[in-house]
Amino acid sequence: MITEIYITIYITLIFFISFLIIIIPIYVFFKIYNQKVLHYDFGYKNASLKICFIAGVHGNEPAAALLLQELIKKKYFKNSNVFIRVIPVVNRFGLNTNFRFQNNIIYPDINRNFRNGKGIDKTSKKLIELTKDMDIIIDFHEGWGFHKINEESIGSTVITGNLIQLAKEIKDDLNYTISNKNLKFSFIKKPCRIQNSFGCYNYKKNKKYILIETSGQDDIQKLSLRQEQVKIVIDTVLKFYNVSRV
Ligand SMILES: [Zn+2]
Repeated sequence: MITEIYITIYITLIFFISFLIIIIPIYVFFKIYNQKVLHYDFGYKNASLKICFIAGVHGNEPAAALLLQELIKKKYFKNSNVFIRVIPVVNRFGLNTNFRFQNNIIYPDINRNFRNGKGIDKTSKKLIELTKDMDIIIDFHEGWGFHKINEESIGSTVITGNLIQLAKEIKDDLNYTISNKNLKFSFIKKPCRIQNSFGCYNYKKNKKYILIETSGQDDIQKLSLRQEQVKIVIDTVLKFYNVSRV
């Protein structure tokens, strides 16, 4: 009798463990693979001006993604007199793993997935959908160096093709806080420097877009400093369009 009970418990345990061994990896796989690109909306839906802040397209460029999530929690954009959409983490898998690419073997680099006027993977399509009604798009990335030291690098640059006055004000406001001339931001008017990028896509579609590149990859500068710079950019944009949040 006792032996039979032991055998029953033993078999049940074996079944249970086998079940976990099969189910857990499947659950984890779908949890990672089916990550949603979350967005947060503030202000009036029908406002005449719609501003969108985007971050975390590349997972190893975390400064703006982390800061925007904090600002959302603090309700920083609440009660705006314009419409503000924040997409804080486009590539959640990349941010969680400190990895540039998304979890898509065929189309890993989200910022190369805009071809022939459309998105070619799920994430790029989603970004297009979330920004198609936006008037102003501010997209935060982090470069690997400093443009003033090495022209190959786009670290510490503000790049646009059609929002020149705002881009220059952002550059000036950032540079006001930087004393070392080698670390200052540059304004670059080359929206299609990288073909198939989101910036180039927007430029060709006549959409107003600015790419902000702090110098941040491999923690070349402290995260707190890069986040201060992201905050300056956000506040300059809000000031430029007289956004009030009362
Ligand atoms: Zn990037």
